[in-house]
Amino acid sequence: MKATVFHDYGGPDVLSYEDFDDPSVGPSDVLVEAKAVALNHLDLFVRNGIPGLKLEMPHVLGSDISGIVAEKGEEVPDTIEVGESVIVDPGISCGVCEFCMKGEESLCPTFGILGEHHRGGYAEQISINHRNVIAIPETSGLEYVGAAAIPLTLMTAWRMLISRAKIQPGDDVLIIGIGGGVALAALQIAKTAGARVMVTSSSDEKIKKAKDLGAHLGINHKTNAAYHRSILKETNGRGVDVVVDSVGAATWGKSLKSLRKGGRLVTCGATSGPIAETNINLVFWKQLEILGSTMASRSELRDALKLVWDGRVKPIVDSVYPLSEANKAHELLEKGGQFGKIVLEP
Ligand SMILES: [Zn+2]
Repeated sequence: MKATVFHDYGGPDVLSYEDFDDPSVGPSDVLVEAKAVALNHLDLFVRNGIPGLKLEMPHVLGSDISGIVAEKGEEVPDTIEVGESVIVDPGISCGVCEFCMKGEESLCPTFGILGEHHRGGYAEQISINHRNVIAIPETSGLEYVGAAAIPLTLMTAWRMLISRAKIQPGDDVLIIGIGGGVALAALQIAKTAGARVMVTSSSDEKIKKAKDLGAHLGINHKTNAAYHRSILKETNGRGVDVVVDSVGAATWGKSLKSLRKGGRLVTCGATSGPIAETNINLVFWKQLEILGSTMASRSELRDALKLVWDGRVKPIVDSVYPLSEANKAHELLEKGGQFGKIVLEP
């Protein structure tokens, strides 16, 4: 089969479209003929090399895959049939530890992500345990490109807002840096949950698009650097209930200042850098909660997908490239100009 791989860490030009061994299908696995695979910021981090993460080269990126079941192992149950359209749950866990037994797979000591710790979906085919495959209901009307744009960011945003920050109807939710996949999924989930959503971006165009998706307020954090003051003004000095911040170092302090007393900051990443100053006075005096969140459990993904199947959360796709031009897609993602997901087609 063909795959886009890299043999060494580096910039987008290390990505190479080449012949790669066909995957072997174990007794519990299904072979998915990939129709689309979406990019995530994670792909850039892995391609550049994550300290402490040792990969077997060549490595295949790609966490978000949609496709058709082409073959199944002898122990795969009848709930999955050859020819079915599926998406792939990118979370890989042991299935037997104390956390997996409780259905908290993302806390599993060996938890890994397809395309990061395991070879992923920048390929024509992928073999994966049947437990990671979810059929796309025909009634959803979802096409492969849209389906691939869903899993990782949807599950991440769901766990952040619903399980960790426990948002309530009427909450004010501030989402930092609208335009990326997690932020857009968070916007849609928060709206569905009855929250009022405010967003920040460095682009007026992205703010306009976010308002079209239901954002109440958008602040350009490039032209209005003290955006936390605008948030306090908008909330009559109270501050917001929840801040969703996956930007990290560049926004951390302002995110804390934007919170109401007893508010919750939830983070799933730090695209601008992981080291930031925290004013501890703010944390104890305002009794803030700082919540970390990573991916989600199998059941959280399935809960979140209900919103996609019935159309309440929609995939937002920025652009589509052939798999052979993954390097161009990476360049676009690195520039950060996209609104929604960038998807590759094998
Ligand atoms: Zn486990």
